[in-house]
Amino acid sequence: MKQRMITLSQDEMPRQWYNILADMKVNPPLGIDGNPIGPEKLAKIFPMNLIEQEVSSQRWIDIPEEVLRVLSIWRPSPITRAYNLEKALGTPAKIYIKNENVSPAGSHKPNTAVAQAYYNKIAGVKKITTETGAGQWGSALAFATQQFGLDLEVYMVRVSFDQKPYRKAMMNVWGAECIPSPSNKTEFGRKVLKEMPDTPGSLGIAISEAIEQALKDPKGETRYALGSVLNHVMLHQTIIGLEAKKQLAKINEYPDVVIGCAGGGSNFAGLSFPFAIDKMHGKNVEIYAVEPTACPTLTKAPFAYDFGDVKGLTPLLAMHSLGHNFIPAPVHAGGLRYHGMAPTVSQLVINGLAKADSIDQLETFKAGVLFARTEGVIPAPETNHAIAKVIREANKATEEGKEKTILFNFSGHGLLDLAAYENYQSGNLKVYELSDDEIQKSEEILKKYPTPQKFL
Ligand SMILES: *Cc1c(COP(=O)(O)O)cnc(C)c1O
Repeated sequence: MKQRMITLSQDEMPRQWYNILADMKVNPPLGIDGNPIGPEKLAKIFPMNLIEQEVSSQRWIDIPEEVLRVLSIWRPSPITRAYNLEKALGTPAKIYIKNENVSPAGSHKPNTAVAQAYYNKIAGVKKITTETGAGQWGSALAFATQQFGLDLEVYMVRVSFDQKPYRKAMMNVWGAECIPSPSNKTEFGRKVLKEMPDTPGSLGIAISEAIEQALKDPKGETRYALGSVLNHVMLHQTIIGLEAKKQLAKINEYPDVVIGCAGGGSNFAGLSFPFAIDKMHGKNVEIYAVEPTACPTLTKAPFAYDFGDVKGLTPLLAMHSLGHNFIPAPVHAGGLRYHGMAPTVSQLVINGLAKADSIDQLETFKAGVLFARTEGVIPAPETNHAIAKVIREANKATEEGKEKTILFNFSGHGLLDLAAYENYQSGNLKVYELSDDEIQKSEEILKKYPTPQKFL
């Protein structure tokens, strides 16, 4: 029998995260006044231990034992060789799946949710508020906060709340509260509902609501958690790439191409940063981030200072952004409907260490169905973007007659996204392509803020 699955024993699990800030410069976050924002201001939103991690430039950071203990419920996650998909494509390329769908919530998100819940717990926080797009982050954090005995309140983007009712049920099972956003619970939510009663909502709006709720706790025991974008989130996700490197080394492999889909950038960063450091040292590896044509942040948006949320409660971050007011078309990949991008991922692309590509949802669902019919697992709509790119790369290898090694992040399963597959199969899915006019509008709006530096 051909070896399909490449595993690590639990003793071989990485004991440290890789911090790319040791090897890469990014612009500091700014306050609304345009001055660098100090930890005091952030301390109302995040616990101090995570703020310290956010700005740390220490290359390797120890993973606490308590975090490893919870991660070991499903980690190390397997790598599987996609023999069936390779055969269906008739490609000489070797395709390796780093499988993050084996976590309790079904995606990579618990990798940081568990770490964040732990750091909040030891900082004395009692309750966390957060937002969620497709519900993956909300359910991951619900699982994680439940492990550490914390309360959780989740603002879920309205369109996903309606499309994915079972994500809410998962959050409830793990003891969390889930509220559709915009909601009547917050001042900002009420304002948005008044102006746009029919809005599908957006991650940016939900973030504003969650931060408002955290800030308004009279006891000061509530903090906010973000599932992507921030440096500490990217850090926690690097366990994916660190495991993958060890796994491939066991069979004397090293990828020619590394692929991940990108919403806020965390699963992409998690897999690719440990390979990006090799690339900085001259290794020949191509790294691709893939996003929807409906929300082409890295491929088309300006690199600018912008807020992470709609109301402007977060610091200004230097990233590719479609503008904090941007509301993407209601594509099914809810986790990829975000106006901004992790500053570290933006900088990686600016540096030329990674490239970005955008793919429309019809091509991605076609890829997801082929994947399900060959490799079995039904992928999340987000993951389908990575798979569509894998297929493009495999077909390129066929044309060039090259035996390329492709590694991609299988960021999550789609078992709670079956309505999206139903829509696709009945021909009801539309292609959304963001117009140049829309992008120009973002550029105009973002001109108000300072221009970040590009570090090459
Ligand atoms: C949230 C999510 C994404 C997108 O978020 P990133 O921070 O860019 O990784 C991708 N895939 C799945 C399955 C998700 O749940």
